[in-house]
Amino acid sequence: MDKNNIKKQNVYISEEEKTLNWDEIQNSFKKTFGSEIYTSWLQKIYLVKEYNDYLILGVPTRFFRDWIVSRYLDKILEQVKSFKLSLNRIEFKIIEETKSTSDLIKINELNKVTEIKDSILNYNRLNPNLNFDNFIQGESNDIALSYSKKVCEHISRYNPLYICGGVGLGKTHLLNAIGLELQSENNVMFISAERFMYHFIKSIKKNDMVNFKDFFRKSSVFIIDDIQFIRGKESLQEEFFHTFNSLMDKGSQIVISADRTPMKLDRVQERIKSRLAGGLVVDIDSPDLELKVKIIKKRILETENQFKENINLNDDVINYIANESKTNIRELIGILNRVIAFGRVHNKILTTSDCKNILKDIFSQIKVITVDKIQNVVSNYFNIPLSEMLSQRRSRPLARPRQIAMFLSKKMTTRSLPEIGRRFANRDHTTVIHAVKTITRLSEQDDEMKKNINQIKSLLLE
Ligand code: ADP
Ligand code: MG
Repeated sequence: MDKNNIKKQNVYISEEEKTLNWDEIQNSFKKTFGSEIYTSWLQKIYLVKEYNDYLILGVPTRFFRDWIVSRYLDKILEQVKSFKLSLNRIEFKIIEETKSTSDLIKINELNKVTEIKDSILNYNRLNPNLNFDNFIQGESNDIALSYSKKVCEHISRYNPLYICGGVGLGKTHLLNAIGLELQSENNVMFISAERFMYHFIKSIKKNDMVNFKDFFRKSSVFIIDDIQFIRGKESLQEEFFHTFNSLMDKGSQIVISADRTPMKLDRVQERIKSRLAGGLVVDIDSPDLELKVKIIKKRILETENQFKENINLNDDVINYIANESKTNIRELIGILNRVIAFGRVHNKILTTSDCKNILKDIFSQIKVITVDKIQNVVSNYFNIPLSEMLSQRRSRPLARPRQIAMFLSKKMTTRSLPEIGRRFANRDHTTVIHAVKTITRLSEQDDEMKKNINQIKSLLLE
């Protein structure tokens, strides 16, 4: 691509086709995202071509694209839609770095020269409130908890330690607890994979890879959260692989978390997967009732101590909250906090029927879940193309996810059976009924199915 074309951003759009004013859109980005994010990211996006229902935007690098897609795509689409309603998709085109973009980077650097070290220290402090003392043991997490503690007693015996489990089940809490435990005697590095990528890109832009490598390879305990973020990001994987190897060579302890097992990390290089699986893999499951009740009680005590107040929640109410929150502990705590806040404001002892009313609010979020969204999340979760999932093919690897998506559409939206059938490539409502029955039965009998459903639900409610 010719450099000059990039500056003349409208060059690909014939005059009569053109309806968008990119400068205007950029202004709205600035308002929505704030000037820091805007200058680092949004400002560098060019309009390459405009179609009736989608846009092609130019970005300088693949990392840049990955970053934008993972963090800002929804909002960007929402913004451009407010200028042209017919748009429903954005594609990115990578346009080799040109003088103009590197100039921009230079300007940025002048504004904000931060050493990797400083910014990492700012963003990756361990949270003193997430420690072993307040991590409550239950059947679903006891193996993960006990090996996390063993790692602290005996560095690099289990290397890497890989902790996996669904959203909000305590992975970050455990990683953080390990970091706190080890930090006095070790050089602990605790970072999310997303942040790791941020520093990686930044160092590339600043031509400062030497420092980047040094910095991360120096640690004797390297803890990286949510490694699934590297999926599909080739160069990041390359860098991670080398960092990983050089840390292992040195005998540093590595601790990793992810939302799935190493082998289920699709779009991740095989050699990385086998390294990740090469130490000890432990998983955290959904909490049972007993653990949920314990966590609620502990939280109540903590809140009472912190605010020097009496929180009056009887066992019925506690059980009610524990039962209502099926999917994860973060949600459980969120619900509890709402109930406590309500009790405070109305200054009364709450009953389960008060709780029902409070929670109605929270669960009414469910209304915004659409069949489309369910289909997308399910096909992503099982890593099959949406078109295949909706197709007429009946092979089990397609049929099960399809049935799960129908089941969830019935449970989580207000759509009728015939409406759901229509959304699944015009199937009959009896097919939907069959799917709902099958998945209901399987999720009662089959642990794997139960787990899948719970994980998908939490993805949908996230
Ligand atoms: P994840 O990283 O798996 O998404 P987090 O570690 O962020 O989940 O946990 C979500 C919330 O639940 C945090 O506030 C965490 O402190 C709390 N939590 C999770 N498991 C436990 C536990 N066993 N005991 C106490 N709190 C927990
Ligand atoms: Mg986490």
